[in-house]
Amino acid sequence: MRFQDQVVVVTGASRGIGRAIAEGFGREGAKVACIATTMANAEGTAKGIAGAKAYALDVSNAEAVAEVFGQIEKDLGVPSVLVNNAGITRDQLIMRMKDEDFDSVLAVNLRGSYLCSKAVCRGMMKARAGRIINISSIVGLHGAAGQANYAASKAGLIGLTMALAKEFGSRNITVNAVAPGFIETDMTAELPQEMKDQTVAVAPLARLGTPEDIAGAVLFLASSEASYITGQVLTVDGGLTI
Ligand code: NAD
Repeated sequence: MRFQDQVVVVTGASRGIGRAIAEGFGREGAKVACIATTMANAEGTAKGIAGAKAYALDVSNAEAVAEVFGQIEKDLGVPSVLVNNAGITRDQLIMRMKDEDFDSVLAVNLRGSYLCSKAVCRGMMKARAGRIINISSIVGLHGAAGQANYAASKAGLIGLTMALAKEFGSRNITVNAVAPGFIETDMTAELPQEMKDQTVAVAPLARLGTPEDIAGAVLFLASSEASYITGQVLTVDGGLTI
């Protein structure tokens, strides 16, 4: 029960990694605000977690972010943990990439995390306590062909993480990133089996990751055990990139 009665906001909580993170916090006593693009999807996660509440929000919409985070504060209280997990891919080689696909990936993955961080920082500063955890990717550290938009957004998240760690450190707010490797979720379900087999063949831990593998790292970074860790990127990839 490391997070008893703490208000924890998780974006992209309807499925995959975000859902596992929301459920993990819920199991440890947190009041979880589950954000997804539709209310039905958010409720799908929230209804399985005691004390959780569902919110529909497009994290790239500044006005909507301000409104929903205001509502979360009224409903549950001031958030002490924010997990910026909402993310999308629009993969394509750059020669064929549509400009709007570059913009939409940056808007959700990077701008959305900026907007949500902005929405919680005042309350955290006042409380002189807080944790922000950004879900980046090994692609943000190493790049990947066909993912110029996604790689730029995830590398940008690492810059955002370090900048905010410096801005908020004196207020006892830590800001860290988790860089997952290849995790089995809907996002990766469409990728060719050959690519999955190759990953398993070269990863020292010889398996793909699970959403729970990422949730474990996020809960650690949000816990008091991690109180002297800030501005860091924790890679959780089964050793794939070593
Ligand atoms: P997923 O596609 O299964 O889930 C993404 C979640 O984000 C969904 O709940 C979706 O509703 C939500 N979302 C999308 N656009 C949104 C928006 N505009 N506003 C609010 N919510 C929105 O993906 P996943 O695999 O669970 O990935 C979660 C995060 O982890 C993403 O940021 C992703 O980039 C990152 N990641 C995933 C992997 C992987 O292998 N699956 C690897 C590295 C990083």
